[in-house]
Amino acid sequence: MLTWCLGQHRVAQIQRTFHKIKVTILCLLLTLVMIRSMLGAGDFGTPETDFHLLQSSFSAATTHHHTRRILEETKENVDNGNSNSYDSFDITKILVDDEPPEKKDPNIPYSLGPKISDWDEQRSNWLKNNPDFPNFIQPNKPRVLLVTGSSPKPCENPVGDHYLLKSIKNKIDYCRIHGIEIFYNLALLDAEMAGFWAKLPLIRKLLLSHPEIEFLWWMDSDAMFTDMVFEVPWERYKDYNMVMHGWNEMVYDQKNWIGLNTGSFLLRNNQWALDLLDTWAPMGPKGKVREEAGKILTRELKGRPVFEADDQSAMVYILATQREQWGDKVYLENHYYLHGYWGILVDRYEEMIENYHPGFGDHRWPLVTHFVGCKPCAKFGDYPIERCLKQMDRAYNFGDNQVLQMYGFSHKSLASRRVVKTRNETSNPLEVKDELGLLHPSFKAVKVQS
Ligand code: UDP
Ligand code: MN
Repeated sequence: MLTWCLGQHRVAQIQRTFHKIKVTILCLLLTLVMIRSMLGAGDFGTPETDFHLLQSSFSAATTHHHTRRILEETKENVDNGNSNSYDSFDITKILVDDEPPEKKDPNIPYSLGPKISDWDEQRSNWLKNNPDFPNFIQPNKPRVLLVTGSSPKPCENPVGDHYLLKSIKNKIDYCRIHGIEIFYNLALLDAEMAGFWAKLPLIRKLLLSHPEIEFLWWMDSDAMFTDMVFEVPWERYKDYNMVMHGWNEMVYDQKNWIGLNTGSFLLRNNQWALDLLDTWAPMGPKGKVREEAGKILTRELKGRPVFEADDQSAMVYILATQREQWGDKVYLENHYYLHGYWGILVDRYEEMIENYHPGFGDHRWPLVTHFVGCKPCAKFGDYPIERCLKQMDRAYNFGDNQVLQMYGFSHKSLASRRVVKTRNETSNPLEVKDELGLLHPSFKAVKVQS
């Protein structure tokens, strides 16, 4: 009897324990579901979070108490900047503006650096002592450094940095195909020369640090290569030190502020270039100097709107007023688009595809399409943003199609990010010839000799 009673008791105890376990598991599950739904997607489902939640649930006196505690912790994390969500993160927290640079004495004239007057001699000695770094990589093919850059801050609009990325990818492609080195600058080397003047101190620094470079090619961040085949006619410039897209009459006769463009130009690494930079810089310093210089430029140049001094107007002004000093070494090129104004090119891309092929560099297939005035990284531009961005995408895809064809792809249309296959895969990949011959290792040599 007693044994039977004890047996019955044991059975009841086991049943009760089993029931308790069931209730605990149910509570546990409920707790998890509640916490997860209240936390939202941000903390959902990582192994760490699950483990943490399980642990919390086991020791919880009540589910309610625990949910509240975790919610409070989460809020604290967001407030402390520990959130895992980019949506709730305020970027200005880490992009604090540095202290403003020291004010310079306005009575001391601006200078790009210590005066150098024997650069040609210094450089030619260096080249003699460093035969492994010749300034010409083939006969008639100078060593070229393409230099571009943008502000150290993120763009002032949410898509600007995406367009900067497309633009640098486009330049990397052209440079890789043509054996050109590339430098992207994201540092403001001289606070006084912010904005479009930032290129001057940068160019000087690079010329002096890279004596092996024969030509430096400045290209704006808003300019893209649209002819991946065209090779610059280097031979044509053997007696010149600077090449810009422009017209002699417009610069020297009319003093027109758009007679040349400084968004894409070539500068030889020599004393002449350093002297020109020294002559070019004085209108650049931010503030009163740049404002006052802007007034002179607007007064003296044809068609110039009222605004602070810019590097392009300053160049037109220097050439127009000091032609004897600089003119004979400056080549104003208009046989191909070293710079091409986007407004007259972008609506013709389809017509170009229909009638021509890459390699001309001119109106038939422009080497460069430059989105002057679009200001893709700023808050405002001089043109409607939709047209600018749409056309920048088209220009990018137009250039990118020439790269993709090497690998058997093409954009679905100039407006499309998507790509389609243009060739079937083959088991003999090395026998495939890309249409433009760009993949062939001898491309560079062939182009230079022709
Ligand atoms: N730039 C730079 N750092 C800056 C701002 C501008 O290096 O802080 C460069 C950038 O490459 C830009 C060029 O300066 O493309 C000239 O400015 P922008 O193209 O806006 O002038 P636009 O061609 O419209 O006259
Ligand atoms: Mn530009």
